[in-house]
Amino acid sequence: TYVIAEPCVDELDRACVAECPVDCIYEGARTLYIQPDECVDCGACEPVCPVEAIYYEDDLPTALRPYAPDNAAFFTLT
Ligand code: SF4
Repeated sequence: TYVIAEPCVDELDRACVAECPVDCIYEGARTLYIQPDECVDCGACEPVCPVEAIYYEDDLPTALRPYAPDNAAFFTLT
């Protein structure tokens, strides 16, 4: 799955939302989240993000790795 990380916080550009073919990018209070069970790993969202907040989960820089479980948790807690 792809993951939306820290650069999105309070940015919420939403360019990725328009690109996602399966509409699996959802909006929280301060950031967007990718639903990991719905993401089809197409990669369309990654290049359109103006703040480079989106990563394939295995490519997350070490400091941003917690955002993978954080994205998933958004959907189990709400
Ligand atoms: Fe949507 Fe594709 Fe991005 Fe997954 S990788 S969130 S399916 S645009």
